[in-house]
Amino acid sequence: MDDALDRVLDARSATLLAGQLDVHTVGDLLRHYPRRYADQGQLTPIADLAAGEDVTVVAEVRKCGSRRMQRKNGTIQHAVIWDGTRELDLTFFNQRHLPEVLTPGRKALFAGRVTRYGKARTLQLTHPRYQLLDGDADQLAEFARPLIPVYPATKDLPSWTIQLCVRQVFDVLDDPTDPLPPSLRAAHRLPELGAALRAVHRCDDRAQIATAQRRLKWDEAMAVQLTLARRRQEASSRPAPACPRRDGGLAAAFDSVLPFTLTAGQREVGELLAAELAGEHPMNRLLQGEVGSGKTVVALRAMLRVLDAGRQAVLLAPTEVLAAQHARSLRAMLGEHGRAGELGSAEQATRIVLLTGSLPARDRKRALLDVASGAAGIVVGTHALIQDRVSFADLGLVVVDEQHRFGVEQRDALRARAADGTSPHVLVMTATPIPRTVAMTVYGDLEVSALRELPSGRSPISTTVVPVGEKPGWLDRVWRRITEEVAAGRQAYVVCPRIGGADAVGEDTADEDAAGEDGERPPLAVLDLAPRLEEGPLAGLRLGVLHGRLPGADKDAVMRSFTAGEIDVLVATTVIEVGVDVPNATVMVIMDAQRFGVSQLHQLRGRVGRGSHPGLCLLVTDFPEGSTARERLGAVAATTDGFELAQRDLELRHEGDVLGAVQSGRRSGLKLLSLLRDADLIGQARETAQRLVAADPGLTGHPGLARLAADLLDEERARFLQKI
Ligand code: ADP
Ligand code: MG
Repeated sequence: MDDALDRVLDARSATLLAGQLDVHTVGDLLRHYPRRYADQGQLTPIADLAAGEDVTVVAEVRKCGSRRMQRKNGTIQHAVIWDGTRELDLTFFNQRHLPEVLTPGRKALFAGRVTRYGKARTLQLTHPRYQLLDGDADQLAEFARPLIPVYPATKDLPSWTIQLCVRQVFDVLDDPTDPLPPSLRAAHRLPELGAALRAVHRCDDRAQIATAQRRLKWDEAMAVQLTLARRRQEASSRPAPACPRRDGGLAAAFDSVLPFTLTAGQREVGELLAAELAGEHPMNRLLQGEVGSGKTVVALRAMLRVLDAGRQAVLLAPTEVLAAQHARSLRAMLGEHGRAGELGSAEQATRIVLLTGSLPARDRKRALLDVASGAAGIVVGTHALIQDRVSFADLGLVVVDEQHRFGVEQRDALRARAADGTSPHVLVMTATPIPRTVAMTVYGDLEVSALRELPSGRSPISTTVVPVGEKPGWLDRVWRRITEEVAAGRQAYVVCPRIGGADAVGEDTADEDAAGEDGERPPLAVLDLAPRLEEGPLAGLRLGVLHGRLPGADKDAVMRSFTAGEIDVLVATTVIEVGVDVPNATVMVIMDAQRFGVSQLHQLRGRVGRGSHPGLCLLVTDFPEGSTARERLGAVAATTDGFELAQRDLELRHEGDVLGAVQSGRRSGLKLLSLLRDADLIGQARETAQRLVAADPGLTGHPGLARLAADLLDEERARFLQKI
């Protein structure tokens, strides 16, 4: 399976496969699975073709001629093919010798896009690729099979060329060794690897193909789950910085001044965390909880336990805005307990240090010193912090907030951060609900807990789609609504997908998946809209602007004035997506809402309705009713159940993106396995992997499995290393 392809194939095919499909070895090619299978019988009828489809037809050439083009230089070739039922026109350009190849009576496969042309709107294929079928009899037989595999292809490597390459590989290949142990295959009734590969590439029976695919999915699921099981095993077998419970410490002092009653969920999770922090092995836990469910307090209480044990805690946030806000709110919550070294601090107070990339050099140096000396008990910073060489005096706990852009590898990097050979406890928090299969893969190295209730006194958020395409007048009503809220003493957000000006690509813009559907008009930008609102419909209100290109200090100042109520309306990009907490903000208007993903919209609207006043979220779009974009917005408007939306989001996205964005690229690791459809299989593989690794952590008894996992890891490492 490791054999280089040029030992089996001609040089041209090998080069094309390597260059265009990243297929280098025999194994790579055999794992380049058909995307689907076409029935020869259903393929053929030209009568069934419809404009716009990409089709492959088997047909006989009736005639083919060439002529000069009338207005331009060059030649044009017309051919007519016939499949026994109907004729179809083909058009080619500048292939003067084509009539010598496509002679009447020759049979060939033709593949291309069906278009209409001329007054009669006749169907035709323009510049199709073709493969003659009267080569050797063997080839003909290959294409005459009832089921034709359709491969992910490129312009120079059409599906049928790949099919022939695969065929050639099978002719010389010895059966590969099977990584799955016979007992596992027997338990789940899985065919052997060789048989499965043959079936998936060259088989005429859909049921057999499905069985083969299930077997190949097991390979993928086991590779992922073994890797994760070993990570869990490794992470939890390291010694942890011990943080035993202590009476009369900071944690206890904080609890006694807490201005509200903890929800049952907060208390329960708090107990669990306290127990895990006191244990001998590191905690590795994911805390899920809807926006506003009060995760920060839970994290703070855990951090205080760690401080009580004489160690440090770090809180990582995805953006500088959020880091600054966290530092502020932790300071506010801790009060006198957070002002060590200052006048009026409590006896056993700690110090909170904010560490972000935009700190002036001198402040940064001092902050780093405080962290290294242990003077700072709590360090708050951006995720980017881990890429710097911050050294801690005694790091006990890492809290990662709003972590949906933070992968397994990054968590591993953090775990390597503690002193004295221990691994810090890790608490990851996210408001994006995670479907079960994603939890088992992307977050598979973590145990999961959830906060399911919101603190009492929360107000509901209602969401409405504002279809300005059909109802242009509604936009005025949107601005009027903001004016009314401000008059009533409230505040509002207006979110745009783009910063504007000399837009830098990749900066806090909307989700790529959702974007680009309209293509024509550039999405609305903060820097364009804000002045228009200021002069127009929102004249007289105090507007502020917030986006990722502002210097850190400015961002912070804007957030501060918004929090203080000195700004009425904040026009912003998605920098406010996560964690920003201004209870007096009640309205959020999202412009070009179709540009955002489902989860992102859900996150965004969680910024309003955080106080005692009901929240309102307006999704402004000019996309027409019936478009998928509108469907997606409708789904967001219809429910505030984050779990339901997360599932929906998974359905609407490319799974590769879900994995790729969060984890350092599993793209090539998961080809057949679907997070959406294979939940049961993934669950079974997880159990199996857990059992195998518990009994044999090095997998020495299962070299095939060890190899499967190692291949995946290699790939992942390679990708991760490319990123930093
Ligand atoms: P999230 O889970 O979205 O991070 P936060 O931790 O930011 O939520 O909490 C949102 C707000 O709710 C904060 O202002 C916090 O002080 C407040 N809060 C947290 N827990 C409670 C509670 N049990 N009762 C009342 N308010 C709470
Ligand atoms: Mg939060």
